[in-house]
Amino acid sequence: PEDIRVYEFAEKLKRPMSDIIKVLFDLGMMMTKNDFLGADEIEILSEEFGVEVTIIDPKDEFNYVEEAKADEDPNAVERPPVITIMGHVDHGKTSLLDAIRNAKVTEGEAGGITQHIGAYTVSQDGKDITFIDTPGHAAFSNMRQRGTDITDIVIIVVAADDGVKPQTLEVIKLAKESGKPIIVALNKMDKETANPDLVKGQMAEHGISPVDWGGDIEFVPVSAKTGMGIDDLLENILLTAEVLELKANPNAKAKAAVVESSLEKGRGPVATVIVQNGTLKIGDHVVCGAAYGRVKALINDMGKNIKSVAPSHTAVTVGLNEVPPAGEILMAMDSDKEAKEYALKRKEYERNKELSKSTKSSLEDMTAMI
Ligand code: GDP
Ligand code: MG
Repeated sequence: PEDIRVYEFAEKLKRPMSDIIKVLFDLGMMMTKNDFLGADEIEILSEEFGVEVTIIDPKDEFNYVEEAKADEDPNAVERPPVITIMGHVDHGKTSLLDAIRNAKVTEGEAGGITQHIGAYTVSQDGKDITFIDTPGHAAFSNMRQRGTDITDIVIIVVAADDGVKPQTLEVIKLAKESGKPIIVALNKMDKETANPDLVKGQMAEHGISPVDWGGDIEFVPVSAKTGMGIDDLLENILLTAEVLELKANPNAKAKAAVVESSLEKGRGPVATVIVQNGTLKIGDHVVCGAAYGRVKALINDMGKNIKSVAPSHTAVTVGLNEVPPAGEILMAMDSDKEAKEYALKRKEYERNKELSKSTKSSLEDMTAMI
């Protein structure tokens, strides 16, 4: 269900897009034509418009790319790719994320501070790449279920000494369903027991065919321990990104996705966001689900205070009145009033949903008793 965009839904219903957006808007859900609809939204919309919705197969990679291009904003410019790393437990996701960051951070930045904020950006050959530093496919699928689709490229990590495991298979399935380009990182190549050909064979059996075997997926041998292959991996990411022609308009009103959030002593609610479009600035009036506020501070992945965040870049945002869940979308609004209005509508909607849930379950309880 997360594979349909607002405008596609409108086309299917033969309704003007503005009708769809209005219904969502009245419920406090701010969506634009390219946003993906989540299961909840589809349910609401189908009730509202009195239609039955059948969920069809997810689109393949190529459709996805073409559509994204077709809707280019004339003012959009190139933006960095956003990467999610997934893989079986202990195959080295965390180590790889750390190795990439350490390899790139220490060069220019004194001390090489590594503050974990849930996402970070590195530079390779003068180009930026943003990694979502909350590894694991739970985060990825939660986000997609909410209709928040920020990953451009999926890296599947497989330990070359261990091969394909149950979670590797889950991740392959998820990655394929998402239609995102995949790169395989063959990790732990420093180990004597590493057997990359065996892993390639196993992956190929599950539809992930290596380029050097005539397939279409790049397999990059790496070692998170020694740092071997990290540059190769980053270069592969940049090549893949180039084909995708990722774009955003830095002058649009900011739209960003929450990757992590918490309540912090002295700071209040904080949310690490990745900007999807526009530029997020200090002083912006923002709404984020049922939360709203004015951006008081932005702190980058190096722990530095910054004034603005460009597309595909990340920062901890301070100034919301409550903690938004990961996967929520933060949007800049014209005024404090507008931000507050949206937040309250959203809150009301959530409350109603909770109410209808509890009514339903108490009815079920009653039937059970009879
Ligand atoms: P995750 O569960 O996928 O996040 O895996 P971790 O990053 O926590 O790594 C699991 C274990 O594998 C840890 O003990 C790491 O030190 C080790 N490890 C990770 N990458 C490598 C590697 O490239 N080479 C070797 N020898 N060990 C690694
Ligand atoms: Mg880990």
